[in-house]
Amino acid sequence: EQRFREQVVLITGAGGGIGRAVALRFAAEGARVAVNDLRAQAAQAVSEEIRAAGGQALAVPADVADRESVEAMFDAVERHFGYVDVLLNNAGLISEDRHFLEGDEAWWDRVQRVNLKSVFLCSHRAARIMARRRRGVILTTSSGGATRAHRGNVAYDATKGGIEAMTRAMALDLAPYGIRVNGVVPGLINTYGLSGEVLREREAVVPLGRYGTAEDLVGAATFLASSDAAYITGQFIVVDGGVLAQ
Ligand code: NAD
Repeated sequence: EQRFREQVVLITGAGGGIGRAVALRFAAEGARVAVNDLRAQAAQAVSEEIRAAGGQALAVPADVADRESVEAMFDAVERHFGYVDVLLNNAGLISEDRHFLEGDEAWWDRVQRVNLKSVFLCSHRAARIMARRRRGVILTTSSGGATRAHRGNVAYDATKGGIEAMTRAMALDLAPYGIRVNGVVPGLINTYGLSGEVLREREAVVPLGRYGTAEDLVGAATFLASSDAAYITGQFIVVDGGVLAQ
């Protein structure tokens, strides 16, 4: 299927994990994919992987928490592809857990900048491009932590709760411009190579009985970006094997 032929899709933090898996699928379905990551080599490697499979890709390494870096990234995407149809805000810090009593201001600010401010910076620039064309889809990435607390995740969960509120609020402001804004809510996704005892222990709390993989997010993200979701905005798809249903 080629649901995204001619479309330009920008995915942040796509040098690995969930972003990479979703980028490969968008490309396989005809999209021209701008592959962002802070790790330039990783972004390059994923865009080469897409081209090797016959797809179209451009590596756009940038720090999505930095305004000038974000502006330069979008300038590069516009120069190369002309516009943006889909932005997937996926970049995030996933291993900044600290007990609240061990937290400090630098930790708090780092997590807020990379996880939350980045969504404002990227979505704002993307929305201005999309508003001109009266079409576009902005996707965000929340976490089960926005709804259910996990130990050591005060800063992280605050950003994900903020992302969910932002997603609904952006959906309202941007609806008149033909821009839809939705999010995915990953549960326990093994992008960090857990194995053995820890993995089995944590899998015990998942109703479907296994950890998720990056590939498990691909269907929800591409569906929300597709025309099948044309009447869906301000909503989330939870991809967590049933954890939040308990
Ligand atoms: P990951 O670490 O594999 O991918 C995140 C990517 O973001 C990395 O490649 C990293 O280099 C990049 N990145 C970090 N800071 C950046 C910056 N300032 N600018 C640009 N890129 C930057 O993790 P993942 O599991 O694939 O996570 C992707 C998203 O899914 C994150 O938003 C995360 O919070 C969310 N999520 C993951 C899980 C999970 O269990 N893995 C659960 C819930 C939500």
